[in-house]
Amino acid sequence: MTQSLDILQRTFGYAAFRGPQQAIVEHVAAGGDALVLMPTGGGKSLCYQVPALLRPGTAIVVSPLIALMQDQVDALVQLGVRAAALNSSLPPGESARIERAIEDGDLDLVYVAPERLLTGRFLDLLDRARIALFAIDEAHCVSQWGHDFRPEYRGLDVLHRRWPQVPRIALTATADAPTRREIVERLELGEAREFVSSFDRPNIRYSVVAKDRPERQLRDFLARHRGAAGIIYCQSRRKVEDTAAALAADGITALPYHAGLDAGVRATNQRRFLREDGVVMVATIAFGMGIDRPDVRFAAHLDLPKSVEGYYQETGRAGRDGEPAEAWMLYGLADVVGIRHFIDTSEAGEERKRLERRKLDALLGWCETTRCRRQGLLAAFGEDYPRPCGNCDNCLDPPRTFDATEAARMALSCVYRSGQRFGVGHLTDILRGEQTERVASFGHDRLTTFGIGRALDERRWKGVFRQLLALGLLETDPDGHGSLRLTEASRPVLRGEAPVLLREEAAPVAGGRRRGKSTAPGETAVAPADDPLFEALRALRARLAREQNVPAYVIFHDSTLRAVAALRPRDRHALAGVPGIGGAKLDRYGEALLEVVRGQHDFAEAPAA
Ligand code: ADP
Ligand code: ZN
Repeated sequence: MTQSLDILQRTFGYAAFRGPQQAIVEHVAAGGDALVLMPTGGGKSLCYQVPALLRPGTAIVVSPLIALMQDQVDALVQLGVRAAALNSSLPPGESARIERAIEDGDLDLVYVAPERLLTGRFLDLLDRARIALFAIDEAHCVSQWGHDFRPEYRGLDVLHRRWPQVPRIALTATADAPTRREIVERLELGEAREFVSSFDRPNIRYSVVAKDRPERQLRDFLARHRGAAGIIYCQSRRKVEDTAAALAADGITALPYHAGLDAGVRATNQRRFLREDGVVMVATIAFGMGIDRPDVRFAAHLDLPKSVEGYYQETGRAGRDGEPAEAWMLYGLADVVGIRHFIDTSEAGEERKRLERRKLDALLGWCETTRCRRQGLLAAFGEDYPRPCGNCDNCLDPPRTFDATEAARMALSCVYRSGQRFGVGHLTDILRGEQTERVASFGHDRLTTFGIGRALDERRWKGVFRQLLALGLLETDPDGHGSLRLTEASRPVLRGEAPVLLREEAAPVAGGRRRGKSTAPGETAVAPADDPLFEALRALRARLAREQNVPAYVIFHDSTLRAVAALRPRDRHALAGVPGIGGAKLDRYGEALLEVVRGQHDFAEAPAA
């Protein structure tokens, strides 16, 4: 057995490396530099943690997220690894103790914030220590283009200059080419080997749902995930707070998170999300980077994200444990109008606006597609996914399309004849021949398009307009009131020269579930309550976590407990074969686990459960 595999099994309790992990580990352990591009949940941490244990000296891990370092360290300590975190939140005595341990070579891994690392004092300290490697986590923070830019990351090139013989490994889940180029340049990784993984996350199910009655749709969605941890993304702070309050009133443990909240409240909410069972975080995109709770079961978007890339990052926070997870988005006409307006009126320069419009168009195209969603997502990262995936809404419940050439002509003609000054509501009234006050006051009942669209109901017209907008056959007026105008591309359609195929809108929510699917997507295979042994194991875990003041998943993942519940191991030896149970955890918790398996009633009397 290779040394790296031995460490993986004994210390981490995993049977085999995933994807490119082993190649990366061996390259870095042998002293090579590496740039690792792997999706969230792909398993980046092991790529530096295993070499850290293979090489003599202390591995220095640069991480931008002070609040989350401690959880990583807690997880390593549970595995019997000598790890510590150095940042501004420590009491001074503790800091000095860790620094001494680094000098004495008593630590395998130290997590450190970049601003701390780059102080002259700390760099001098490293001169006196033996450094196993430098790991630069969330390496895209060095890039100005991303929304996670951290100026201190720019100073990290000093590591290579000062310690050219120490291997460096930079890791990120942001894969677009400009960011990658910037990382290589800024961190002087020109010589590093690049390891690019597939970005597919097979256990995540993607669906996009036409926004109809959002509160109701969200409630139905959450009903399928009762008791699960999840993230709900909203675009505005206001909506974050309103949504969190509404869910809390429904009895759901929902907490708000956005940049406008007091730092203390943010920290508390994040901590509760990481530590408690079944917390739903309602957040803006300010929340999420580095959140490595493995059992997040869903990421829901109530508003359109900024780009396909952003969407992929945000949804990637679900299902890191490899168990079924759901990415679910509500998407509606108002989103399209709103974001277009937001871009048009922003302060950004023209070039930036063009870029953002392109990104929005790509995203809208993806929302409206009738093809496999996974294929579309991966294509955005330059990856070719050969077959439809079978695990997205379009694969599972193929959308019907209809020849909308006539409907499109009616809609465009109606826009034109009413003077390109009205929004969807009024246009639909004209098409459907509604005698509203507004119709009368503008004399729109005298238009030739008045009442020619009675065959479609209001909801379907909304869908037609939304899709015409997404396809670029209509555009919104920059006035921000949502009035629609024709585009160059509208002409051939108006003249009847270009056919238009649109997707049929799914049945409205009021009618219950969509088209009679009996199993809801993303429902976990085993509902916790189905298995009393699993429940008892969870109770044990909760008690152990509380006693040590660490998140429950740091003790064991759900998948590990589920495996124990399924295998019902009789002895230590059998328990050692369960994924996620390495040597240290076997020693610490083996007996307790076996006791629960042998007789749940014994445990039920324990006070803390
Ligand atoms: P990333 O940082 O890339 O998002 P992590 O390093 O947090 O991902 O790993 C994601 C999850 O996958 C973690 O729960 C980790 O324990 C698990 N994992 C990583 N590598 C393996 C492996 N080889 N076998 C089993 N589980 C693994
Ligand atoms: Zn698919």
